[in-house]
Amino acid sequence: MLTFNFYSPEEEINSSLFQEKDIRVFIKRDDKIHPYISGNKWRKLKYSLEHARILQKNRLVTFGGAWSNHLLATAAAGAQFGFQTFAFVRGETVDNPVLSLCKIFGMELCFVDRKAYKEKAQLFEKHFGTDDQAYFIDEGGYGPLAAKGISELLTELQREYSAIFCACGTGTTLAGLIQGLATNNKTQLHGIPVLKGGDFIYDELRCLGVDPDKAILHTDYHFGGYAKTKPELIDFCKEFTQATGILIEPTYTGKLFYGLYDLIKQDYFPPKSKVLLIHTGGLTGLLGMLDKF
Ligand SMILES: *Cc1c(COP(=O)(O)O)cnc(C)c1O
Repeated sequence: MLTFNFYSPEEEINSSLFQEKDIRVFIKRDDKIHPYISGNKWRKLKYSLEHARILQKNRLVTFGGAWSNHLLATAAAGAQFGFQTFAFVRGETVDNPVLSLCKIFGMELCFVDRKAYKEKAQLFEKHFGTDDQAYFIDEGGYGPLAAKGISELLTELQREYSAIFCACGTGTTLAGLIQGLATNNKTQLHGIPVLKGGDFIYDELRCLGVDPDKAILHTDYHFGGYAKTKPELIDFCKEFTQATGILIEPTYTGKLFYGLYDLIKQDYFPPKSKVLLIHTGGLTGLLGMLDKF
């Protein structure tokens, strides 16, 4: 119903490390879907937007931190598909390039302290309880409709992989991949949580109605926690980008690619493995980290 033709090819990358270990590595370029409705965020929003349209609700109300890729995606998608957009932003009032872009796309922002932010349903009720145009979209797009959107990624793949990897924030993307892969047991799914204590993703997968045993989480690549970095990660992002021409950032895809290279070095994959990484986009996150490079 909401038509939007996009391009997300699978591209092989090369390195002497892959040659030495005799494995092949491909990237699903979801970062090419759209510069601002980026990566997994378009897939995650698609069915919520369709649902809102069916219910004839014209105002999207959502939640995120001050550098949220989801807020920017919602703002840009709202402008493209004719919805007003409103966001509750976690924490004290700030200005940054991502929030400025949100405002350019027409999003209205309301900053709320961390305690109030936690009660999302309550915030929605208080501000939009009597607004029959308002449609609730959870933080990061989290939810079953988002997982359904992600599951369609699998139908686009050109070849069969021994392993597919994605970065995990809320775990919705990984849940969608599990859903989409349902009957294929030749491919092992892997998630790299970008938050500390990433085992909570197993519970999120259960909440999203998929079998957590279908995925393996590698919980040691968070570099101290969400949006935390170390010089080693920054160096890796630079070296990777310079060697491949593919931009990555430290919050999500940097940790994902770092983790993959580390696992390859440890001979985690048998020779002849074909590994696919989902490039989930989010490159505007770099704008908040430029001083680290
Ligand atoms: C939001 C985001 C993720 C996390 O996706 P979840 O579905 O919340 O796990 C991963 N990568 C990028 C670039 C993102 O913006």
